[in-house]
Amino acid sequence: MSPLTITLSNGVELPAIGLGVFQTPPDVTTASVEEALRVGYRHIDTAAAYGNEREVGDGIRRSGLARDEVFIETKLWISDYGYDSALHAFDKSAGKLGVDQLDLLLLHQPLPSAFDRTLDAYRALEKLLADGRVRAIGVSNFMPEHLERLLAETSAVPVVNQIEVHPYFQQTALQRLHVQHGILTQAWSPIGGITSYRGGEKRTFDDPVLLEIAGQHGKSAAQVMLRWHLQEGRSAIPKSIKPARIAENFDVFDFELTTEQLVAIDALDTGVRGGPEPESITLEAYGREIPEA
Ligand code: NDP
Repeated sequence: MSPLTITLSNGVELPAIGLGVFQTPPDVTTASVEEALRVGYRHIDTAAAYGNEREVGDGIRRSGLARDEVFIETKLWISDYGYDSALHAFDKSAGKLGVDQLDLLLLHQPLPSAFDRTLDAYRALEKLLADGRVRAIGVSNFMPEHLERLLAETSAVPVVNQIEVHPYFQQTALQRLHVQHGILTQAWSPIGGITSYRGGEKRTFDDPVLLEIAGQHGKSAAQVMLRWHLQEGRSAIPKSIKPARIAENFDVFDFELTTEQLVAIDALDTGVRGGPEPESITLEAYGREIPEA
């Protein structure tokens, strides 16, 4: 296991830092995953919609690590919501990954305009949990209103809500709601990649406050952001396809930010989301077929 794990509300241990593989092309995914596992990662975050689950599975097998040494997290896409479709979507993902059991399975997005289908998909996750096909279940991009409804209408509290969190977009009210319900905040775009690859004007990597703190520790801005997540109790899943950055993003267990530094990073929040508004996600705009295994 990685140097730091977080105990989820159902007792399962999650390695706090995982490798993300969104936008990692299938032909470099196997090598990226293998490299991450070689330098010490023990957690990979993929999704049916990323189109690279098969290559993630190949990378894990090539690492030579035992199945139970690597935490595998994936997400069901909205096109597979509904009870039976979601059960089948598990078979597709597990089949591509080449495993019998997943460590963590999430609903990738709420479907606000078809929330009953979202709830039915979550009930399928509960069934998979009860049957031991997954060790933990959760959600992603759920806003407070979606979480409240899910909690009211289903039985198993999601152990994780994976949401956009980086210094420029922190969603503190949602994070507080997570704490109330024992839900772990898992940060996507944890080093603010979305402020960079979407061509925004202000990139977290160039932020003067982050660079100053980084200089004080002999670390990079990315490492400071990852440390900020860890010290504030979040899991983070930075993505890179470059071996040097994969290693850099995992080299965050040998320094500690001060309270003043944490507060200074907290103050960078702009309240501006990089990703799509969860309310705007519809099947018409975002639906697409997820291939069979
Ligand atoms: P990240 O914050 O992880 O940033 C990744 C970007 O930054 C890439 O362009 C990468 O390029 C670059 N990068 C990586 N490491 C460094 C570094 N040390 N210094 C400078 N640049 C660096 O953003 P992502 O949006 O990729 O989010 C991470 C993961 O979160 C995804 O891979 C996915 O698993 C998950 N995610 C989930 C979403 C959801 O809806 N649930 C939405 C978006 C992401 P390069 O590869 O060339 O190094």
